[in-house]
Amino acid sequence: MHQNVNTAEKASSTSTIPQKFVYFFAAGEAEGNAGMKNILGGKGANLAEMTSLGIPVPPGFTISTEICAHFYEAGGKLPEWVRPAVTTAMAKVEAKIGKKFGDVNNPLLVSVRSGARASMPGMMDTILNLGLNDQTVEGLAKSSNNPRFAWDSYRRFIQMYSDVVMGMNSSLLEVTLEDMKEDKHYKADTELTVDDLKLLVKKFKELVHQMTGQSFPTDPWEQLWGAVSAVFHSWNTPRAITYRELHSIPASWGTAVNVQSMVFGNMGDDSATGVAFTRNPSTGEKAFYGEFLINAQGEDVVAGIRTPQPITKIAAQGSGMKSLEEALPQAYSQLVDIYKKLEAHYRDMQDIEFTIERGVLWMLQTRNGKRTAAAALKIACDMIDEKLINQDEALLRLDPGALDQLLHPTLDPKAQKTLLAKGLPASPGGVNGQIVFTSEEAVEWKEQGKKVILVRVETSPEDIAGMVAAQGIFTTRGGMTSHAAVVARGMGKCCVAGCGEVEVDYRTETMKVKGYVLKKGDVITLDGSTGEVYLGEVKTIEPKLDGNFERIMKIADQVRKLKVRTNADTPKDAQTARNFGAEGIGLCRTEHMFFGADRIDAVREMIIADNKSDREKALVKLLPMQRDDFYQLFKIMDGLPVTIRLLDPPLHEFVPHTDEETKELAKRLGTDYERLRAKVKSLHEFNPMLGHRGCRLAITFPEIYQMQVRAIAEAACMLIGEGKKLVPEIMIPLVATDKELDILRVSAINEVKKVQQEKGVKFDYLVGTMIELPRAAITADAIAEYADFFSFGTNDLTQTTLGLSRDDSGRFLGSYVSSGILPKDPFMSIDQTGVGSLVKMGTELGRRTKPDLKVGVCGEHGGDPESIEFFHKVGLDYVSCSPFRVPIARLAAARAALLGKKLH
Ligand code: PEP
Ligand code: MG
Repeated sequence: MHQNVNTAEKASSTSTIPQKFVYFFAAGEAEGNAGMKNILGGKGANLAEMTSLGIPVPPGFTISTEICAHFYEAGGKLPEWVRPAVTTAMAKVEAKIGKKFGDVNNPLLVSVRSGARASMPGMMDTILNLGLNDQTVEGLAKSSNNPRFAWDSYRRFIQMYSDVVMGMNSSLLEVTLEDMKEDKHYKADTELTVDDLKLLVKKFKELVHQMTGQSFPTDPWEQLWGAVSAVFHSWNTPRAITYRELHSIPASWGTAVNVQSMVFGNMGDDSATGVAFTRNPSTGEKAFYGEFLINAQGEDVVAGIRTPQPITKIAAQGSGMKSLEEALPQAYSQLVDIYKKLEAHYRDMQDIEFTIERGVLWMLQTRNGKRTAAAALKIACDMIDEKLINQDEALLRLDPGALDQLLHPTLDPKAQKTLLAKGLPASPGGVNGQIVFTSEEAVEWKEQGKKVILVRVETSPEDIAGMVAAQGIFTTRGGMTSHAAVVARGMGKCCVAGCGEVEVDYRTETMKVKGYVLKKGDVITLDGSTGEVYLGEVKTIEPKLDGNFERIMKIADQVRKLKVRTNADTPKDAQTARNFGAEGIGLCRTEHMFFGADRIDAVREMIIADNKSDREKALVKLLPMQRDDFYQLFKIMDGLPVTIRLLDPPLHEFVPHTDEETKELAKRLGTDYERLRAKVKSLHEFNPMLGHRGCRLAITFPEIYQMQVRAIAEAACMLIGEGKKLVPEIMIPLVATDKELDILRVSAINEVKKVQQEKGVKFDYLVGTMIELPRAAITADAIAEYADFFSFGTNDLTQTTLGLSRDDSGRFLGSYVSSGILPKDPFMSIDQTGVGSLVKMGTELGRRTKPDLKVGVCGEHGGDPESIEFFHKVGLDYVSCSPFRVPIARLAAARAALLGKKLH
């Protein structure tokens, strides 16, 4: 008891002040490095690293992520003790570049940006041009010899600061600007004169005062403290929280704040700003790839407001746009040298941001670039060939879950289609759905079971929930690095962006193109690989996997210790799984074979039989059908192990549920309706999942399993007769005690022996059990006496260990996860401490009795990368998962083996 109190006090006490929490960087001097992401955030760590590499980075400093926790502990305020260290660092920046913060003649302006340990693109806040007021703007005008630029920067600063720091609705200022442009008949912002901008600044400040009741801060230091606080605040905005939940980023990490001297891409036609990838993030092609805007400021490119120009001449070909290579050749060639240096240094594809101020290039960011799964595979293979990384590193860089993207359908090239428009191929895949125009509606429609395409002029971080809900995303503005494109690629979601020929009208909820007017609810199809948009639903086809995929899978297969099998009940599933590299069937749920139209009545006849002989009559009808099922599966798996689980669900699942259906069945079976109805009623159970199911059915009706075992044995004999080899694995479900298994094993062996004698054929086979009840795991040593193998049914084991119904708990499990009671949905990723301990214990106990006992897992967790890592550690022999997850499991198993090696 006493100990508990201490622990609670410790958790809530204020953490100690770090000795150092402001890290300076400027040419020739960087206090941080790339290895310090935990405290400097990704951006800060890499700015320091680039500085050390001799790459031009504007001087600045990073306030560490630890201060984020102190900020929240202080009730959302910047603690006073943070300030002196910041002031000192600012003085060093001033000394480096010979300008002073707040100076009226030659003012230093800074940017204030977030930067968490893991990249969260666009999720948190940024403030540019900080340090401007009515006096310093004049200084900037003089020092830059460009009053228009100075006043334009000032009006941008007020817009950004009032929105991000003062919480004002930014559209009010935007409307004022648009009104002025309309009055003056201007088309572009660039036509605004110095006097216009001065008037705008005046109007903006008045509006800010009117709306917030506060004057716009004129003291640069006050501006700075406000901006730093706003960035820490933005760690906990709803959109940042949603993003963190989606990407499993802990709230405790916090963000760092980067304060950096401004460089200006908006100083005229010899200035520019852009973003680039060292390789194509969509295809992985080894080609420098990016976008830029002349005479623009940082956020303009990412925000997708103007459609940017390609960086290289090759990419610009045919677009009618001028590349950076042509527009600013010197800066371009410097950029090429830098990107090559960065990629070689980080040994990974980089996503970089840069600004060119009056022809001089500055780097503002580098990080490992997000990429599609196809690109990830290609880059990994190419980098192995380039000797940049070895095979193990290649595997460790790949995210097994992301392979899912590759296994998704694409549009059938032979399908009839009506092309509506062509945008940018922002994220691959072929999808169709009904169009909706808001994120909220995308979420609502998805909940109603509809497939939707989210149509937006451009997306912003507020749209994240809608993007998750949608099949695909379509935007009319923005480039390949716009918010929509970057986020969709990260999610593995199909996206067509920047499709300017389509006009989207939010008011009337329509999209217009080529004379078509599509309303909310109309269907379109997107091809994220070509950027094409089609009218109506276009047929999709299953994906084909390329050489890179095969190569990575082969490498993974050499490394992994776990075997990967599949859960398959039909020849089609079995074939798909084999194509994906499954090494056998780990679970064939035979009940799925009972639902076929040609056999369900025979199954029902068996269930309603009043005595053994009637039941056997019905079972005789089922026998040839089951034999054929097993024959097909064995044949496809061609000698690989096939585990057949005997009947598992409660019998009432197979009988009619309405009186109408019961009447019809009575007629078909030539039996009395009332009698049938009474029988069906008698099968009702209050808690069928814990009722008369699994091996319990066979304890009371042994003839059911006997028929199934006979079907397996007869199918085996047929294949042996054809010269094939096989070792069928017969699996008994839901065993709680060794006695149950003892009885059912004897019964199964007797039946196989009978068949072998009748047919005069011998074959090897195994009889094993599922471990899916806690009692079975706890008494696994006794159970192993009667089992040739174990297969953990972690679905039922999770259900019974946590006492959580697998069918009903979805309603409240979400709250358990969001409130942190459970780290993840335990039906998706195994509860390692609870259910996992039972798996470990069951395996150890089983192998105590039989050291060579084969042990696998066939619950859904067999396809979950994190769970697979756990199963590897426990020492299982195989995992079994649905066919489409087989490649994911192969890669996850290889990574688990490598991570295990690293630890030892
Ligand atoms: C399990 O319980 O984990 C299992 C594989 O069986 P089922 O899902 O069919 O109950
Ligand atoms: Mg089960």
